[in-house]
Parts: sequence; C-alpha cells; structure tokens
Amino acid sequence: MQVISEPGTTHFILDFPKACGRSSVPVHAFKLLWTDNYNQGIAYLLTQKPEWWHHENHPDQILHQIIVDDQEKLNSACPQHCIAPLRKPEKPVVHLSKIEWTDSTWNPVTGCTKISQGCQHCYAERMSLRLQAAGVGKYEHGFRLTVHKDVLHEPLQWKKPRMVFVNSMSDLFHKDVPTAFIRSVFQTMNQAQQHIFQVLTKRPLRVATLNNKLRWTPNIWMGTSIESTQWLSRLDALKHTDACVKFLSCEPLLGPLPDLDLDGIDWVIAGGESGPGARPVRVEWVREIRDRCVEQNIPFFFKQWGGVFKKRTGRTLDGKVWNQFPVAMRSYYRSRAGQSRPKA
Ligand code: SF4
Repeated sequence: MQVISEPGTTHFILDFPKACGRSSVPVHAFKLLWTDNYNQGIAYLLTQKPEWWHHENHPDQILHQIIVDDQEKLNSACPQHCIAPLRKPEKPVVHLSKIEWTDSTWNPVTGCTKISQGCQHCYAERMSLRLQAAGVGKYEHGFRLTVHKDVLHEPLQWKKPRMVFVNSMSDLFHKDVPTAFIRSVFQTMNQAQQHIFQVLTKRPLRVATLNNKLRWTPNIWMGTSIESTQWLSRLDALKHTDACVKFLSCEPLLGPLPDLDLDGIDWVIAGGESGPGARPVRVEWVREIRDRCVEQNIPFFFKQWGGVFKKRTGRTLDGKVWNQFPVAMRSYYRSRAGQSRPKA
C-alpha cells in the first residue's frame, strides 16, 4: 500500500504485501520515531478502517499520523516481518496529488472560511481537521486561515517540470491573506518557470482588484469555481484579470449552468461532489457544459461523477474519458526545451 503525502509533510512509502494476510495491525505497533535529514520523517497510515488497508486508491487514506523511530523497530512491530523497508523520498519533497488534473500541490496558505454552497462539504476542511488531530504542525490551527512563509520557495527546488495546484487546502485570495503574501506567492511562481501553477479561487473579485499588482507570467493559470448559476458573476471577474490562461472549475456541480459564457476561457473542468454527504450531479448538466466546450473548441476535463464511493462511479461521460488540457500546456512544455510533463 502506498501512503500518500499530504501538503506540508514529508512522506514515506510503506508496503503491506497482500501476502501478509493481516487484516489489521495495531496502531500502537507504529509508535516509533524515524529521524533523518528529511525534516522529521512523518508518515501517515490508514488506521480507522483496517479493511481499507489494501485499497490503494481510497480517497480517505490518510487518517493517522505515525512517527517511525527506526527500521528495526518497525520491522519488529510486525511478527511476520512482512513490512517492506521504508523508502525515503528523494529530496526535495514533492507533494504528489491524486487530483486528476494536476501533478502536485503547494500550500503556502492553509485554512479558509466558507463562502458558497460549493463549500458545504469542503475537503480541505475535513482533511485539515484530521491532520490537526494527528498533530501535524502545519495544521495546528486546524482550518483557521494560516500563512506559511517557510514553504514559499518550495517549488523553486523542484527541478522536474510539473503542474502545481496552488493552495488545494485553502483559497489564496481569501480576504485575510495579506496582499504582500499573495505577491510573494506570485514571485515564486514567476521565478519557477519550469512549472505550471494552477490557482483556483472562489474569490475572483479580489484577483481582479489586485490584477495590476501581480505579474502574470504564462506559467500561471488562474481559475475560478462555479457550482451553480448563482455564482456566474465569478466568471466575469476572472475575465477581468490578465492571466494568460483562464479556467473554470464546475465542481462540485450542483445545478445546470445554461447561461455559461465561455468566451475568453481556455479550459473547463467539471465534476460531481464526492465524499460523505455528496450531493448528486445530473448527466444533463455535465453534457450541457461539455457540448458547449466542444462547440467552442475549449478543452474539457471531466473529473468524476463523485458520490460517496467515487471509484465506483468513475469518470466516463458518454463512453469517453474527457481528459483535455489547455493548448497552452503542450506549447508550454515544448518551449521548455523538450521537457515533458511528468506522470503524477
Ligand atoms: S473556498 Fe475552497 S477551501 Fe475555502 S471553504 Fe470553500 S471549498 Fe473550502
């Protein structure tokens, strides 16, 4: 089983071979501490539902923090010695993401406040509270908005080009994020030209207000979320920015969007809500958006049908997986002297 890292943490990979046959391993077996040169060596392990341990891609994998002391102790924790050695990540740590339309995440801000219906089952909130309960330093304030100056320059250390989702655990344009800090985030993005940065906000009015104070290099894609017609004005605000690539995320899609004006939009993502209490999405809502994109030659990405078990509902629309990206992506990587987008 792969244990996936969360933003702001070092991650290890723990392998539990199916041959192990253990349906559960007591949590106390992992009260160990690994120390090395990689920050603190924090790892996470699924503990609340042992039956999920062998499900590689379950969205709720990260439920418990374990601190691993040394390999010997870890091995002795399992009587069958079936736990494969911990593999240290290569430096510097890259926070790989399971989000289908990006490669990795970077969270210079964590925490947020809810602003519209789309926020009702906010994944970032759920995860922040879990990480706080697990004692992860970066989330000591839970879901309270917190800026993290210490990770401001992180992407500069990542050599391989990748698509980076900025603030998957917050909203960079939240009113409480100081303008100077937003500008610092932009400075890093301006410098880290090897990457594409995907900034997604539910507060595009603030983006438009700050537009002239920000430097919009072509590697910054600016997006806004629209979950229902009530928030169509966000699209107008986005259009008032100088971002070279503007995108729209209709996720969680909570209703039809018949009046979507996609002029000037370079990419559209759509998807249903997933996780506990997920609200249903209807196929005709998604089709309508897809058809408009096809008509206007705008790349369309269908992320998921969602639901409580999103793996079961999948992400096929009318027999096809819609995985389109902005044309700018291909030309961007081509211009980076043949560097290809890495696989997440
Ligand atoms: S804006 Fe995003 S991060 Fe903030 S509460 Fe809403 S869904 Fe969560």
